Amino acid sequence: MNTSVSNAHVNALPGDWRGAAARIVRKIWDFNIHENMLSKHRRWLYAAFGAAFVVWLFATPKLAFLLDPLTTNTAHIFHMMPEVNLGAEGPLVAKILLGLALFRFAFLVAVGLGDIVFHRRATGRPFAWKGMINTSLANIMMWLFGFLFIGTQPWFERVMGHYMAWLHAVPKIVDISGPFAVILACLIGDFCFYWSHRLTHNMRLLWNLGHINHHRHENLTQFHFAAEPDVLALKASKGITLFMLPLLSALFTTDLAGVGWFLIPVLLIDIWIDPSHSPMLYKLEQKYRVFRMMRLVFVTVAVHYTHHSNEPRHNRKTGCNFGARFTLWDRLFGTYVEPDEEIPQTGLFGKHADYCYNPIRFLLLPYVRFYRELRLNSLRHWPKILFGSVFYSPPVKAKMSH
Ligand SMILES: [Zn+2]
Ligand SMILES: [Zn+2]
Repeated sequence: MNTSVSNAHVNALPGDWRGAAARIVRKIWDFNIHENMLSKHRRWLYAAFGAAFVVWLFATPKLAFLLDPLTTNTAHIFHMMPEVNLGAEGPLVAKILLGLALFRFAFLVAVGLGDIVFHRRATGRPFAWKGMINTSLANIMMWLFGFLFIGTQPWFERVMGHYMAWLHAVPKIVDISGPFAVILACLIGDFCFYWSHRLTHNMRLLWNLGHINHHRHENLTQFHFAAEPDVLALKASKGITLFMLPLLSALFTTDLAGVGWFLIPVLLIDIWIDPSHSPMLYKLEQKYRVFRMMRLVFVTVAVHYTHHSNEPRHNRKTGCNFGARFTLWDRLFGTYVEPDEEIPQTGLFGKHADYCYNPIRFLLLPYVRFYRELRLNSLRHWPKILFGSVFYSPPVKAKMSH
């Protein structure tokens, strides 16, 4: 009976109905997860994090890696690098790699838990439960509403298919194999990642439509990272690498077959530097010179953690330490910053940064802001609104925070 009464009311007063709907939308939009809610629904929120972690494991190649060496005699080693054929030594190397991959998984989880236990001791700040639960919920939402992206999938695959076919016509100018080929492939992969990542921090569209979310955590830890949605649309820098890397690889790289044993030290280094969002490992790195020495060549945990710093001295133009695995490109292009003794506060720059403790706003805010900016400004400002520098602000601003 109540329903019919309210329906009649709605028909009579459409303006009021719209007003009520707008108020509800605003309430949902402005809502922030708060400490009270965390203590009341703790069990559900832990479950949400657990689910987000599992989604993350399956979305990234970390679990697939466990199976590859045994089933296809290939392995994925460095970030953004093509698959490596294990060659004649395959079966034995594959077993060792599998053992190391299992250890890598256990190590990642141990680091995540260690971050929770030692966070206050390492940073002097409390562990940020709100941020972690928020990204967990956003991750689950992305997973639940994954069908929204299905429409873009065939289109994307077709474009990549044409691109890959075209790449076959690109002549190879250097032909090498063995360990040197692995090093070269890693350097090329990292060069692509470096420029994609740097561009992502510099261009409004790429920054706002994805990478900003990876930089929202005020007190970043390894589990905060592991709770993030792993969707290409939200990881704009990977999108560009996807196009640059195959082209450069076609020109320079090489036959990676038979590198076998060399992969073991490579993987050991990768296991150490992979949990690059961990304050606990940052502290450990500061303690031992041998770990600090690795910065000469590798993007260690402290080097990448400094990339997330929101201290003004680390924001050279639009950031520092963009590399994924090697510090070479940052050193060469003048964006390398040596990590501080103390662990820096992470997060966005600016006093009015919205850290979005609301999974819906977390996912939608950049889209809504672009929509408003485009609507409020004339067509001739659109190219700059979309593709301009992150320092550009349109003549009529959308009244929204970061
Ligand atoms: Zn970044
Ligand atoms: Zn990061």
